Amino acid sequence: MRYDAVIIGSGVSGMTVAIILAKEGRRVLVLEQHSQPGGLMQHFRRQALVFPTGVHRLGSLDDGQILSRYFQYLEVRDKLSLKRMSADGFEEYSFPGLRFRVPIGQDAFRERLHQYFPREKVAIDQFFTDMNRLVSQFPLYNLLNESERSGPILESISLASYLDHLNCSRELKGILSASNPLYGIPPSECPLHTHFLVMDSFLNSSWRVDECATPLAEAFVKSLLAHGGEVRCNALVTNISASGGRVEGVVLANAEYIPTDLVIFTGHPRQILTLCPPGSFRPAFRHRLEDTQDTFGAFALALSWGHPDCTLVQCDTFIYNSWDTEAQYHQKLVSLSQRPSMIYCCAMPQEANREYAVTALVGIAPGEMTPFELTRRGERSEAYQAAKRSLARRILDTLQEHWPEQAPSLKMVDACTPLTFRDYTLTPWGTAYGIIKSASNFRHAQLSTETKVKNLFLAGQSIVQPGVMGALISGVYTGTAILGRNYLINKIKEETS
Ligand SMILES: Cc1cc2nc3c(=O)[nH]c(=O)nc-3n(C[C@H](O)[C@H](O)[C@H](O)COP(=O)(O)OP(=O)(O)OC[C@H]3O[C@@H](n4cnc5c(N)ncnc54)[C@H](O)[C@@H]3O)c2cc1C
Repeated sequence: MRYDAVIIGSGVSGMTVAIILAKEGRRVLVLEQHSQPGGLMQHFRRQALVFPTGVHRLGSLDDGQILSRYFQYLEVRDKLSLKRMSADGFEEYSFPGLRFRVPIGQDAFRERLHQYFPREKVAIDQFFTDMNRLVSQFPLYNLLNESERSGPILESISLASYLDHLNCSRELKGILSASNPLYGIPPSECPLHTHFLVMDSFLNSSWRVDECATPLAEAFVKSLLAHGGEVRCNALVTNISASGGRVEGVVLANAEYIPTDLVIFTGHPRQILTLCPPGSFRPAFRHRLEDTQDTFGAFALALSWGHPDCTLVQCDTFIYNSWDTEAQYHQKLVSLSQRPSMIYCCAMPQEANREYAVTALVGIAPGEMTPFELTRRGERSEAYQAAKRSLARRILDTLQEHWPEQAPSLKMVDACTPLTFRDYTLTPWGTAYGIIKSASNFRHAQLSTETKVKNLFLAGQSIVQPGVMGALISGVYTGTAILGRNYLINKIKEETS
């Protein structure tokens, strides 16, 4: 069977391109190496509780907001049951001696910052002015077609230098940079626009997907099937074949050959160096990809919370053990058994609200999992299990100290390391957000959706920006490269206005 397009990977980026092309009448096939579709959109069940893997919160889903419009166009919006997070505080930053809650809306956030930092009103106002200026320049974040695009958008200043330049106090810096684990780049390296885009999208509105009622991955699959697309799981692509510099098809691990005119690869971009025939790419491009660094990995502790009140359902909590929001990138949680510098916690609504499914995430620096990298799911060593238990215990201890009244009702359910993520999504060593695009090497690490191989495109979180919004926009970006920018943007606008 010949397909018009084969999409490798069924995460949000792959499903987005697949639905876009299927809606245009193209015959599309999504190939997924794992046994279930969805990539990081999947959830898992333990002890009757449902835990998300890589989508704990979504932003900008109110009517007319950007993710809502994309979801509407992709025909997933109506298939989801969404729970709004607290307007008065969807994020809480806990620093030594201060707990700060971020309300929904830039104006409300600004006002609260004014209350806490009355002497720094000028810097605070400048922060919001710059945020609005920068986010308004991103075409696909604002659904701008070619004629509406403004000039160059990328400013290579880092978040930390920018906050220094504003002369912010240590405490204000801490609060304005506390959410950096949501994209995995330390403030000293994070391009300012990356931070602003993520912050803005959640300040617009923040939501949980009720995975028990309407799983996110299923909504994407249903939409694709309704437009005649197909998804095949347990389908590991081992080769992308090309001839005369043009894509011809893909080969699966079972040696099956699937001919196609168009391939979109959405896994970690370094994989294409081994998937494509030798000589497909210029040495400079190959070296550039080989040189790229990855963001940290995630250690996720799944817990049950038996107490009747769980504020974490409505408000994510970032527990910092100092005002240093960079420390988490250098911590040695495995090799030196340190206590985590930061723990991010959230809880999901469940079918029966007697217990909540809490996820606690910490960042694992590259290299920390090296001693165990050769092990696979189901065959890990006792040393790996011991390291996992030890870190899980340190996280639980911190949470029980943070919420002493709930301590007896917080129970460990399961844990996964970056290697678990690696084995489910094939990212190298389990990097959480793929290739790091830092302020100093932004252009070097920036990859286009088009490749040297004709009709081989790239999409995914490493191409545009991490997060569901970034990965989805990367899929739209690929769609614009295939169908024409104005054509697709105008269509999305018309269908969602
Ligand atoms: C722990 C964690 C928590 C997160 N929380 C949030 C959150 O709350 N909100 C948010 O917006 N973002 C969050 N993110 C980020 C977000 O989940 C990702 O940025 C986004 O889902 C990535 O989508 P993707 O399509 O690029 O990649 P993926 O979802 O990884 O999809 C790629 C797919 O390609 C498949 N694949 C790879 N290679 C092959 C091959 N050779 N053959 C066949 N299939 C292949 C993989 O199996 C995978 O399914 C989180 C990430 C992590 C790790």
